[in-house]
Amino acid sequence: MRYLTLFVALSTFPFAARGAEPAQVVLVIHGGSGVLDKREMEEAGVTRQQFEDALAAALKAGYEMLKRDRSSVDAVEAAIRVMEDSELFNAGRGAALNRDGRAELDAAIMEGNMDGRGEGKSDPRKRAGAVAVVSHIKNPISAARAVMEMPGSRHVLLVGEGAEQFLMSVGIERVSNVYFWTDRRLKQIREIHKQNAGDKSRGRLSAADPRQTSVDRRFGTVGAVALDIDNKRMLAAGTSTGGLTDKLPGRVGDSPLLGGGIYADNRACGVSCTGTGEVFMRHAVAHDVVARMLYGEKSVADAVQDTITELPDEEGGVGGLIALDRNGRHAFGISPNSLGMYRGYATAEGQFYVAIEAKDPDKRIHPE
Ligand code: ASP
Repeated sequence: MRYLTLFVALSTFPFAARGAEPAQVVLVIHGGSGVLDKREMEEAGVTRQQFEDALAAALKAGYEMLKRDRSSVDAVEAAIRVMEDSELFNAGRGAALNRDGRAELDAAIMEGNMDGRGEGKSDPRKRAGAVAVVSHIKNPISAARAVMEMPGSRHVLLVGEGAEQFLMSVGIERVSNVYFWTDRRLKQIREIHKQNAGDKSRGRLSAADPRQTSVDRRFGTVGAVALDIDNKRMLAAGTSTGGLTDKLPGRVGDSPLLGGGIYADNRACGVSCTGTGEVFMRHAVAHDVVARMLYGEKSVADAVQDTITELPDEEGGVGGLIALDRNGRHAFGISPNSLGMYRGYATAEGQFYVAIEAKDPDKRIHPE
């Protein structure tokens, strides 16, 4: 088994003054780990500025919620909805298309605890909701929240037709699947169908296949982790994705699976992942970070570093994750076979920072 070395952005805390405590971070976001370099962005007809603007808009939407004393769940939902509405990411509008040329979307949201009372497994009110394989939902993160908040129900994960029926009954916005057929995604799936014609390996396409990492495929899953600014200090995490391009209909990745692509526990941290879902599922990556903090008493930075370092390079496993603890310390983990991860964070004072490639320093931004 080959182990990966990694990039973990430990040095990214903005310092208020030399020697001062790092500023508290209240919102961390990602827009996927399959980032494009300059030449690839040109080829795909997108610019770095567009990504930075989209990340800034997501940070602003989430931060505004926290500033208005809304919950960390509100902040996560608001930030993710902005990215779902952008074609730049593999979630919502920009979702990848499956082998049948349809979008099937997955998302989950989770609270670290409820109302600041009781924590972790000892708290029966700890809530989470998720949807998978939905094909008519404009903003799957809001659908996941509707499942979490379903009155009188213990359900956590709803899939397919049953999920769509429930979501219709509670007024979650529906769209035709055509909404997801962007020019980029249609071109991409047509090219793959052409390549696949007569290909004996069809059906076994994995992320290790170089075709899986062609430029048009690398528009990423989105996620957010937020911390209430008020004294409840509740963490919440969310992840939303279109999954993998050319996936088999019905395939579900790690994003809606608690412990795989998302987890939140106020005793440790909130986590949202992006990357080869099957690897993240098998290795319970999101919960692995939480467990290292809980049982190994690691800091969030060390926990993220250890998790990513020990992530096996299975099936070309590639990806990254974001984490935020209850003290407002955050960490980004990016596996070394990823060029970077679209990412950003907001401090309690309202300073926003974004970065794309792993080597990029955090860039302070001032959204409109
Ligand atoms: N993890 C997602 C999935 O496997 C894909 C991604 O993050 O790009 O569905």
